[in-house]
Amino acid sequence: MADAYKIIDHAYDVVVVGAGGSGLRATMGSAEKGLKTACITKVFPTRSHTVAAQGGIAASLGNMGADHWTWHMYDTVKGSDWLGDQDAIEYLCREAPAAVYELEHFGVPFSRTQEGKIYQRAFGGMMQNMGAGPPAQRTCAAADRTGHAMLHALYQQSLKYDADFFIEYFAIDLIMENGECRGVIALCMEDGSIHRFRSHAVVLATGGYGRAYFSATSAHTCTGDGNAMVLRAGLPLQDMEFVQFHPTGIYGAGVLITEGARGEGGYLTNSEGERFMERYAPSAKDLASRDVVSRSMAMEIREGRGVGKEKDHIYLHLDHIDAKILAERLPGITETGKVFAGVDLTRQPLPVVPTVHYNMGGIPTNYHGEVVTLKDGNPDSVVPGLFAVGEAACVSVHGANRLGSNSLIDLVVFGRATGLRLGEIVKPGTALPPLRAGSEEMALGRLDHFRYAKGGSPTSVIRNRMQRTMQADCAVFRTEETLDEGKGRIDEVYQQMADIDVTDRTLVWNTDLIETLELDNLIGQAVVTMHSAANRKESRGAHMHEDYPNRDDVNWLKHTISWFDQGKVTIDYRPVHEYTLTDEIEYIKPKARVY
Ligand SMILES: Cc1cc2nc3c(=O)[nH]c(=O)nc-3n(C[C@H](O)[C@H](O)[C@H](O)COP(=O)(O)OP(=O)(O)OC[C@H]3O[C@@H](n4cnc5c(N)ncnc54)[C@H](O)[C@@H]3O)c2cc1C
Repeated sequence: MADAYKIIDHAYDVVVVGAGGSGLRATMGSAEKGLKTACITKVFPTRSHTVAAQGGIAASLGNMGADHWTWHMYDTVKGSDWLGDQDAIEYLCREAPAAVYELEHFGVPFSRTQEGKIYQRAFGGMMQNMGAGPPAQRTCAAADRTGHAMLHALYQQSLKYDADFFIEYFAIDLIMENGECRGVIALCMEDGSIHRFRSHAVVLATGGYGRAYFSATSAHTCTGDGNAMVLRAGLPLQDMEFVQFHPTGIYGAGVLITEGARGEGGYLTNSEGERFMERYAPSAKDLASRDVVSRSMAMEIREGRGVGKEKDHIYLHLDHIDAKILAERLPGITETGKVFAGVDLTRQPLPVVPTVHYNMGGIPTNYHGEVVTLKDGNPDSVVPGLFAVGEAACVSVHGANRLGSNSLIDLVVFGRATGLRLGEIVKPGTALPPLRAGSEEMALGRLDHFRYAKGGSPTSVIRNRMQRTMQADCAVFRTEETLDEGKGRIDEVYQQMADIDVTDRTLVWNTDLIETLELDNLIGQAVVTMHSAANRKESRGAHMHEDYPNRDDVNWLKHTISWFDQGKVTIDYRPVHEYTLTDEIEYIKPKARVY
């Protein structure tokens, strides 16, 4: 097989797969430690999905009211519905202010207060005084283009370091040997050459898998390729049942309207013109956390109070806000409203509906970015040579539900932490042991299989079926019935992969082939998500199981870990870290989650 493909060999200390916020920060951190670092990315770095982030990045700077990292920590733990690991959450919230100042010094053009400090807005679930309130203005923003500003600054900075970028290279599979990661195999999409990267460590920074669903705010490239590589390496993914729906995707288009819109005073109404969030979350109202708002919207629609001809969506009002403020603080969404909904939001409400937005689940890691698994009874057993950061990783700081603006901060805090850890454990220029023969076989076997696939089902047909199944059976509300049916239906979609049809056999810019490899990556994650959801008999965070409407800490305060082998899902558990990192803050004990 290998003879049919031209293989080019590379040797590095560290290979990072992904050039979004997390991948770039990890690349910089690794290069800074003197490690010979490669960064592989399937899209040009500044086209990574991080570029689309609007609302902002959370850190307790206290520029616009009192704040403290322990308050941020409390909110994150509560937001996670106590499924987050508190040692990692402490690390995140403690390091957050320094990480934002670092971005400021990298050149991120943050919006400013009158005194010239970084502007901070309110975001869902972010409160003062250990959850007691009032809302904290904690989310640092560059208008409503924070991710764009951040990604461009990070890419510019990363060019200063001596890292090699392999742009428009598609990573196919990890090279694993005796449970260790030894490198990665990638396809150069421009000329079809195959590249074998050997390294002491591989960092997966490949982002989320929102495209397993039909309606998602994420880019078409968000196919969770790193997650799928981990499944194929025989390692588990964690907490995959927790999929975040953002309350305000534009009805029909799925395009995001940032939570910052509600942070600036926007509110939701039903067909009766009622501000219904006052009923569901009397104190936080429209700024309750995302799962709560999405569920309330779905409830209103279900009970016949949706707006529009089909009564299947909700209105978001910004028309009461001064047009000058809108133009200054939310220029991007003003444009988005016009283009995607045909609405002038200074005068009319926007039609919105809960839309898939973020994956809390992913590759289990500790707060150093090291991938962990359950091995010989040890739930925190480190997989040598393998790291994960960003949305691909499950550290887990977001637990069962992520708070808005906590992902961008996760990217840079853990991207940096990974660089620091790599600096500790890899010595620059240490010789790489030789690889076993046939290290490329798994990757090339898959590539070859799909390249010549001659079935009866085009990629787009299977993908559509997968996306619709996930949307119908594994959405905001879940029941025993939808999940059981969903398991059967998604397993059938998986079976259909055997009948896939690819028409283009070339290797140069073969988007048919790339999309097929991405679908193959998505389908495994879709199956694991559905099975993990059916398995969890409680409601927690984004996982709302109507037949088990309450959180059950006695039986379910634990992480799900799921393996996937040729269509078969195996489920086990890892304990949640019910301890903090230092004794400066005590473990925050579970209590009822009300907003
Ligand atoms: C519309 C939108 C708005 C958001 N707004 C906010 C916000 O305001 N605040 C907030 O905190 N969070 C926000 N989020 C969430 C946050 O932006 C994402 O979780 C985060 O940017 C993900 O970053 P990442 O580094 O993990 O991956 P990404 O930015 O998704 O980048 C993934 C990288 O991996 C590479 N890659 C993937 N697969 C392969 C492969 N097979 N081979 C080679 N390279 C590969 C890609 O080329 C890319 O460079 C938003 C998300 C969306 C979708």
